[in-house]
Amino acid sequence: MGYLRRLPRFEYLAPRSVVAVCDALAEYPGEARLLAGGTDLILQMRRREVAPRYIIGLKGLSELAFIRPQENGGVTIGAMTTVRTIESSPLIRERYGLLCRTAAEMGSPEIRQSATIGGNLAGALPCADFPPALITLGAQVKLKSQQGERLLPLEEFFLGPEQTVVGPSDLVTEIQLPAPSPLSDGAYVKFHDRHAMDMTTTGVSAFVTLDQERRRFCDVKIALASSAPTPLRAKNAEAALRGQAFTEKAVEKAAALACQEAQPRSSWRASRDLRLELIKSLTKRAIRQAWEKAKAPPDGGRP
Ligand SMILES: Cc1cc2nc3c(=O)[nH]c(=O)nc-3n(C[C@H](O)[C@H](O)[C@H](O)COP(=O)(O)OP(=O)(O)OC[C@H]3O[C@@H](n4cnc5c(N)ncnc54)[C@H](O)[C@@H]3O)c2cc1C
Repeated sequence: MGYLRRLPRFEYLAPRSVVAVCDALAEYPGEARLLAGGTDLILQMRRREVAPRYIIGLKGLSELAFIRPQENGGVTIGAMTTVRTIESSPLIRERYGLLCRTAAEMGSPEIRQSATIGGNLAGALPCADFPPALITLGAQVKLKSQQGERLLPLEEFFLGPEQTVVGPSDLVTEIQLPAPSPLSDGAYVKFHDRHAMDMTTTGVSAFVTLDQERRRFCDVKIALASSAPTPLRAKNAEAALRGQAFTEKAVEKAAALACQEAQPRSSWRASRDLRLELIKSLTKRAIRQAWEKAKAPPDGGRP
């Protein structure tokens, strides 16, 4: 954490289309930064962690602020969609209660009003809350540049703390979610010091699909925040639950495996040991809550 100073000097560009943003990025490679809601970037600039020569404002890009149902039952979310819009979208609430609930627990109302889903992913803070929830939902992310566009699983998007596959001339344009399977739901459980205004110390997302009889886990996805340099799938924990009935013993075993898979570090926020304890208990809570929600009849189950 550094002192907050006045903003450094920069030139502000306000393109009105995705094509114009890509042109601007290509014109100033490595010298420009995209500004979405600014809730991360402005603080980084005021702490002098970054001092870009050009700021490319995305606020005018209404073509990237949308939540659109797809014919295949999935949903596409534009990168400039705010956390508040996601939290209050009836379509997201109906199909992806996990994402709706995760959004509702982020920051404060003021932060949620400005912060965007694209900025949350592209900023790649290890403590960001959307990545684990979206990874367990099987999200894909689309990038555009003057060279064209590419679509990749969100799981392959993160390379390290604040590092992603987004190159200097790439723009994140949308996030695609597959159709939710019946008998599935999820929970994101996080620990943070002060409610609302503090970043997540550790977070766990679990998304489960039950068998027809609602007795066993048919499929399980578990992803952790602030537990490794990037958002982490706990694949051994998932495998231990697949095909199993819901028992406290099975949940305990999965949580222990998630701890073995995690690589948390000590920081001023929490020691490595505390984070491991949190991963264990939050994983258990996330699995239990996901199981209960998936088991509930559709009307009573969501959000
Ligand atoms: C008080 C406070 C509380 C917070 N609480 C939470 C919380 O509970 N959970 C949480 O997850 N986060 C939290 N945050 C962090 C922040 O609000 C989120 O990460 C937010 O979603 C970032 O989005 P933004 O639109 O503000 O991004 P910006 O700050 O505008 O951008 C962030 C980074 O992403 C890049 N970028 C933005 N959009 C794109 C794009 N379309 N394509 C490519 N690159 C892009 C920018 O260049 C920049 O590097 C909090 C922040 C504050 C200040």
